[in-house]
Amino acid sequence: MSLCKKCKNEFQGNYCPNCGQPLKVERINGRYFLSEIGSILNLEKGFFHTIKELLIRPGHNIKLYISEDRSKLVKPILFIIICSLIYALFVQFFDFQDEYIDLQIDVSGSSVNLLFQWLTKNYGYLNILMSVFVAIWIQIFYRKYDFNIYEILIMLLYISGMQMLMFSFLGAVGSLTKTKVLSYAANLIFIYAFWATGQFFDKRKILNYLKAPVSYLLGLITFFIVTLGIGLLIDFIK
Ligand SMILES: [Zn+2]
Repeated sequence: MSLCKKCKNEFQGNYCPNCGQPLKVERINGRYFLSEIGSILNLEKGFFHTIKELLIRPGHNIKLYISEDRSKLVKPILFIIICSLIYALFVQFFDFQDEYIDLQIDVSGSSVNLLFQWLTKNYGYLNILMSVFVAIWIQIFYRKYDFNIYEILIMLLYISGMQMLMFSFLGAVGSLTKTKVLSYAANLIFIYAFWATGQFFDKRKILNYLKAPVSYLLGLITFFIVTLGIGLLIDFIK
């Protein structure tokens, strides 16, 4: 009999029947490294596979991840981190950011300016912070569906990640071809989010696709109001 290192269950054989922990953990070697990298890029369930699934049927696949099968998509937080990194690299390399994100609210001498400047420069954080506000509105508008705020947030993280990749790709194309492709295609990137959201809740209901832009807009507005409020509060404390 051997003792499981994880749950202290006594067992015979190579795996603990109680928790699935192997008797011996494999040593870390070259093969381990390759398989680790491979599992992230894996075409069956890795990063590229996730992108493909989220391009074809985003809402459907995110819902599947949340309620049935966690193995088909890269975990949402990891996904958003990779997407943010790619986005940051692309912005630096192709230099296209200022064309479309312009949060210039000028309240002279106020901390509000600094906050908005910081958010403009950190589009990844902006996206995630804004998702929290959008999630609240989505929960209100789609309250008859049984999803909690965390599940909605997961959906939004996947969508935001995809939007960052689209911005990166289109920004790079625009910069390479010296065209304003991004300003024309930016609408498509927003429509993607509405389409994905409607599909997530119930793809057959037209109303679901219409409620999405309203939720995003209200999320955006409340986010700006709260940021403005925080900036003014900082001024007040100073
Ligand atoms: Zn065990």
